[in-house]
Amino acid sequence: MAQRRKIAGTKAPRTKTPRTKARRTNPFEQALDRGPANYAPLTPLSFLARAATVYPDKPAVIHGDRTWSYADFYARCRRLASALRRRGIRRGDTVAVMAPNVPALLEAHYGVPMAGAVLNALNYRLDARTIAFILEHGEAKVLITDREFSDTVGQALGMLRRKITVIDIDDPLHAGGQLLGEKDYEAFLAEGDPDWAWRGPADEWQAICLLYTSGTTGNPKGVVYHHRGAYLNALGNALAFGLTPASVYLWTLPMFHCSGWTYAWAVTAAGGTHVCLRRVEPALIFPAIKRHRVTHMCGAPIVMTTLIHAPEAVKVTFDHVVEMATGGAAPPSTVIAAMEAMGFRVTHLYGLTETYGPSTLCAWQADWEGLPLKARAEKMARQGVRYPTIEDLIIADPRSMAPVPRDGRTVGEVMLRGNTVMKGYLKNPRATRAALRRGWFHTGDLAVWHPDNYMEIKDRSKDIIISGGENISSLEVEEVLYSHPAVMEAAVVAKPDEKWGEVPCAFVTLKPGAPPVGAEDLIQWSRDKLARYKVPKHVVFGALPKTSTGKIQKFVLREQARSAPG
Ligand code: ADP
Repeated sequence: MAQRRKIAGTKAPRTKTPRTKARRTNPFEQALDRGPANYAPLTPLSFLARAATVYPDKPAVIHGDRTWSYADFYARCRRLASALRRRGIRRGDTVAVMAPNVPALLEAHYGVPMAGAVLNALNYRLDARTIAFILEHGEAKVLITDREFSDTVGQALGMLRRKITVIDIDDPLHAGGQLLGEKDYEAFLAEGDPDWAWRGPADEWQAICLLYTSGTTGNPKGVVYHHRGAYLNALGNALAFGLTPASVYLWTLPMFHCSGWTYAWAVTAAGGTHVCLRRVEPALIFPAIKRHRVTHMCGAPIVMTTLIHAPEAVKVTFDHVVEMATGGAAPPSTVIAAMEAMGFRVTHLYGLTETYGPSTLCAWQADWEGLPLKARAEKMARQGVRYPTIEDLIIADPRSMAPVPRDGRTVGEVMLRGNTVMKGYLKNPRATRAALRRGWFHTGDLAVWHPDNYMEIKDRSKDIIISGGENISSLEVEEVLYSHPAVMEAAVVAKPDEKWGEVPCAFVTLKPGAPPVGAEDLIQWSRDKLARYKVPKHVVFGALPKTSTGKIQKFVLREQARSAPG
């Protein structure tokens, strides 16, 4: 039998201390026990309690013309927790929120877990059917919803088989939409006690957030975070992105994306200021940067592209450097250059919902400073090295688990391991086992490893399309196309797009003898059934390339999509 080769650095270590004689006689294990004085379950809730004592009068949250101090912010979160408890919310219950980046959603990142419950922030770009699926699957007991999304939410509630408590966010900065619930959020807070004595989790492994990601299958998967991971990733962010008490963070990244990549807690940990933002629009972003002297913001490359291509009239200039962290796709060199010219410094991050958002960064090296832009942008386009708070990262062959050579050429799968990898997928042990098999989280991203230990993503082995920072399951789009009476076969792949990064491109074979159907018909068909960003932007008709076993060769289609006229 072939001998099993031991591969250095690929084996996850044992986590239990063996009960050996050595342990009994080890002086460091005797009468040195863990207790409340020297051990507390890690939770990001403690960041807020601390900030409220250290900076009670400092602006914690700004929204439009209103500012709340850290003392106010803390009191509002405690009111929320107490109001939820009075409504019977207990440990392990789910509270969903459908809102843009408004104070209520930020408060929910504290108030909901202070009540022991789990926050399910919903992606407001999703369609009613998917929202209904998530509310059902996540078993939300309360839904806090902004009136802007009343159409979608109203339809989704109509599809539910049970009643849930609905609370409306009636933000003075938004006039449209309707109120659907029994109470307004401010009135709901008034039910709660601002001094409520919340208790942190008894166990740091307790769930804190539930976030749905459209993985490779049609139905979204519910990624579960714990208090420990949220605490650690928030500190990892603060360290990676240089947050300090002087930081002013503009919310250009949706909070429903991985708890805003855990910045909902990171900014508070640093004692910085959160500046809320309902819409990611240059006409709001530029003036906000100048008015509040914003120091940090995050977003997918599309956010940077929108800023770069904004009409000159809205490009308010500012005289300080703004740190911009981007992820979801590599920033092109032209984008880096244009952002720098406007006064931004770009940091490139990589991660997934499953890893609490960012878990690698393209750490800056002093000797890159003097490089010409092209060479510097090439370095910066790499996804980089692990966060200080992630335990380990390898690029490996997923079958043998052997790491690939660090030659910048051999492609392997990115694998991560550590305390900021999700607990797993809610009610989906099979998918959890598959994702966490052999002691590593398998990302489905394919990368090379450079001699300086920086990784660079080249492709994805999973079937998703990332458009404007949003994941699209190709399967979901294919299902809609297959439901069209004239379609015999359909396959959807990513097509590179200058504005959105990628857009869905459909390859379709029509049924023989079917009435003639054009690209526009199929696009309209999809529009009626899918969220707008998921609708194919291109449709190509013809036979689909197959393997000898009849499997559609998506890599061939990806190539064709790449070269098809845009
Ligand atoms: P997020 O909500 O942060 O976008 P998702 O889980 O929706 O996270 O998407 C994660 C996927 O996005 C990754 O598996 C990878 O394919 C892609 N991705 C994330 N960051 C980068 C990056 N910096 N460069 C290239 N691809 C990236």
